[in-house]
Amino acid sequence: MREVRISIYFMWEWWEKYFHCMFKRPEKACDDSLEWMYLMRKKFLFENFGEFGVGEERPVMDGRYVNMVLKWGMDFIPYVLGAKLTCQDVGGYAAEKMDIETIKALKPVNVADSPAGEWIIKRKEELIKRYGSADQGMDLEGPTNIAVRIRGEDFYIDLIEDKGLARHILDVVTETIISGYLFLGKQFKMDELLIADCNVTLISPSLYEEIILDYDIKVANISKVVTGREKAVRLHHCDVPVDKYIYAYKKVPEVYKIEASYTSDIAMVLREMPDACFSAMINPLELMGESFDVIEQRIDRALEEGAKELDIWNIDPSIDVSKLRKIFSIIQRCCERNNCRALFDCMPFCWDELEWAFPRYQHQLGHV
Ligand SMILES: [Zn+2]
Repeated sequence: MREVRISIYFMWEWWEKYFHCMFKRPEKACDDSLEWMYLMRKKFLFENFGEFGVGEERPVMDGRYVNMVLKWGMDFIPYVLGAKLTCQDVGGYAAEKMDIETIKALKPVNVADSPAGEWIIKRKEELIKRYGSADQGMDLEGPTNIAVRIRGEDFYIDLIEDKGLARHILDVVTETIISGYLFLGKQFKMDELLIADCNVTLISPSLYEEIILDYDIKVANISKVVTGREKAVRLHHCDVPVDKYIYAYKKVPEVYKIEASYTSDIAMVLREMPDACFSAMINPLELMGESFDVIEQRIDRALEEGAKELDIWNIDPSIDVSKLRKIFSIIQRCCERNNCRALFDCMPFCWDELEWAFPRYQHQLGHV
């Protein structure tokens, strides 16, 4: 029987409302506190979703998640490039967009020679000492996502009105991302290389093909060196339909997984990209706005067409435990109808929590 992984990720606010109403957030930002939270949350997940095979009745410390080298959230590359970061009350780090003169003068940075590289090695050693292993959780996003983070939404205008500037930004960002992946590949065992194209969904497929595709290809070309494996690129299109981009995406080499909305024409995607599997993302807005019947039909269709995974990421407090239990049973039913077994995998943390990316903890750690 085919197994379908159901990946579940809750936002900070969800944990705040349903978990921290019972257990206060740690006073002190440290590895002990993170371990405490990890064990308590595995138990909480078991108590609420145990019937779906989620969580642990008697949680054990297996070092997962807590052994992760992780900092600067989605702004690791902007930070390396010199962007000013602030830590928001909710939602972790945010890069301030750079002014145009700074952007014009930007040059690629080699992550291995940067203070960020030094910090990564130091943290890795600390974690190996404590857990016997260290995983890497650094987020390098992809050329377009990073371009938008440092240039802001003006980047979309640049793509049309000042292609030279857009290409300069992409050149600098791409070379820095590549240096980052090569560095991480030397320091850690990496199973995949992510290219996150969330912002591509706001660019037309033809403009993507004209300008950005080459940069995604450059990053994809190093995946074998970084991971030591063939076909290790995870191409993330975010939770919107991917159909119109496929004729361009199929030119990106080494892709083993494509992540996009479960409303995409998955059968067509798999025909066009036969080496890739499809990870079907369910936008949490759908869970709020659509009826259970519609959601069930769409999940059924996604599985029928060959989706290998379902992802429900960024669940916020409007989806409470009972509603989520209902959604889990719908998924289970759809899996049974399609002759597969649902393997629910709920992440017990959100990324901001793993790196203590809240102002009061950041002050405590001396990071701001
Ligand atoms: Zn995304």
